[in-house]
Amino acid sequence: MSTDVLIVGAGPAGVTAAGRLSAAGVRVTCLEQGDWHQPGDGAAGTAVEASSNPNRRRSPADVPIDDSESDIAPLMWNGVGGSSITYAAQWTRHLPADFRVRTLDGVADDWPFTYEELEPYYERVERQFGVSGHPGDPAYPATNAPPLPAADIRASGRKIAKAHNELGWHWWPGANAIATRRYQGRGPCTQLGLCRWICPVQAKTTVDVTHWPEAMRSGTQLVTGARAQSIELDSRGRATGVVYTDRSGEEHFHEASVVMLAGNGIGTSRLLLLSGIANSSGLVGRRLMMHPYATVAGIFDEQLESWQGVWGQLITSLQFYESDPSRGFVRGAKWGLAPTGPPEASVSPYPWGYGEIWGQDFHHQVGRRFGHSAVWGIVGEDLPSEDNCVELHPDRTDATGRSIPKIRYRTSENTDRLLAFHTRKAEESLRAAGATDLVVGPLLRESGWHLLGTAKMGDDPATSVVDGWGRSHDVPNLFIVDGSVFPTSAGMNPTATVAAFSLRSAEHLLRERLNQDVPA
Ligand SMILES: Cc1cc2nc3c(=O)[nH]c(=O)nc-3n(C[C@H](O)[C@H](O)[C@H](O)COP(=O)(O)OP(=O)(O)OC[C@H]3O[C@@H](n4cnc5c(N)ncnc54)[C@H](O)[C@@H]3O)c2cc1C
Repeated sequence: MSTDVLIVGAGPAGVTAAGRLSAAGVRVTCLEQGDWHQPGDGAAGTAVEASSNPNRRRSPADVPIDDSESDIAPLMWNGVGGSSITYAAQWTRHLPADFRVRTLDGVADDWPFTYEELEPYYERVERQFGVSGHPGDPAYPATNAPPLPAADIRASGRKIAKAHNELGWHWWPGANAIATRRYQGRGPCTQLGLCRWICPVQAKTTVDVTHWPEAMRSGTQLVTGARAQSIELDSRGRATGVVYTDRSGEEHFHEASVVMLAGNGIGTSRLLLLSGIANSSGLVGRRLMMHPYATVAGIFDEQLESWQGVWGQLITSLQFYESDPSRGFVRGAKWGLAPTGPPEASVSPYPWGYGEIWGQDFHHQVGRRFGHSAVWGIVGEDLPSEDNCVELHPDRTDATGRSIPKIRYRTSENTDRLLAFHTRKAEESLRAAGATDLVVGPLLRESGWHLLGTAKMGDDPATSVVDGWGRSHDVPNLFIVDGSVFPTSAGMNPTATVAAFSLRSAEHLLRERLNQDVPA
């Protein structure tokens, strides 16, 4: 079989590119190792941490990951829709400064393009994803409003917003890929607070529902149960296609003029390492960033009905997002305020950390938490380090006999100071809002939901894997369109930037298609 563009991975990055390319008449095939999500097969009804952790889920689509030498466990959903199936749908663009941290703070690297260049793509993917939010956030440059109004910030959001007004601290209604009105055939959010499991009314944007049907109507062929195993090159170093195994373990070769990787920071780097290509810089798999994440939950005497609401983020704060040298660390974090969910969530590590709640006082403690609490989730900016990496495991293999990924990841001193400062400030915020008790989750281990940086983009082939369009410096018809390419992580949830980047790369390929170098 052959195609014009062969994409690996059917999550937000893969389908954004697939949809745009096939709408323009390009023949697109997408290989996805997982299946369509069916209600009841994991994401619904199970603890989110369990359903998102491939090492615990162990479905046939999952490749085990050795995370024994990592401070953070990586989380993902492998199937049509990728991790949009289980994500919280918090929708945050990067700030302009996030693209220039070398220039502004003297650390890490600048991106090869600016916020302003990505901005039109942000706007377009916000319409595709049905983002709800409130226009005019003063932390950002002026921009067009998201297509849908922000969700109700509810009693807890109002309480904390008031406290921030009194403190003079930034807050803004949260933006989420959650429809607040009927949108493109989906129901509006009914505030059930189940976003991190599965949304019964499909108000949460999961790209299996929102994007894939349209991409397939435009002609994209989606092959499920197909695990890409290696990218093949011709004698001139052009990619000729991908070898993949089907559900029965049988191998196939799919020929393509262009190969595009969208398998996330672990899947994409593993495939490149298995193929032994595109790595003249030695950076494939290096600079893994996962956003160290902490929580501070406030317990209030008043009834806040905090089992309800978007989850998602009710409000956000960027008060301490930018660097301030007096704090003893560089860069910062975004805070997103979330509800705390149903009774069973009162005992889960997210958002409550790993502190002890079981024992004689158990019922009282659950009663205090349930309905009476709100939590700041702190997304800390992770600076790249070449020691934090994805490697091929020296002895362990998956069911098809290929090396599984091993990740090494340790938080830095900068991170430790950053999280300590931000948790203190989040405590201050909640106390000012009237919280009578606080529960701090200082660094949640099962929080590796953002998998970034392992195929860095940049202008210099000696210090980056791909250029600013996601094109490999070494293999001119190989593109990477997922978060692997992020030179720095920002302190933002990444899907807005992943999708905007994927759309921008797809359109670059369309513009340049007559000049595109392809195998003979
Ligand atoms: C629990 C959780 C909560 C999150 N919350 C948020 C949030 O609130 N906001 C936000 O912005 N982001 C959030 N994220 C992150 C978000 O889901 C990702 O940024 C987004 O899904 C990335 O899209 P992607 O297409 O690049 O990768 P993915 O969604 O990871 O999709 C990659 C796909 O590639 C497939 N694949 C990989 N390797 C191969 C191979 N060799 N062959 C075939 N297929 C392959 C995988 O099976 C997978 O389906 C969350 C993630 C999780 C897990």
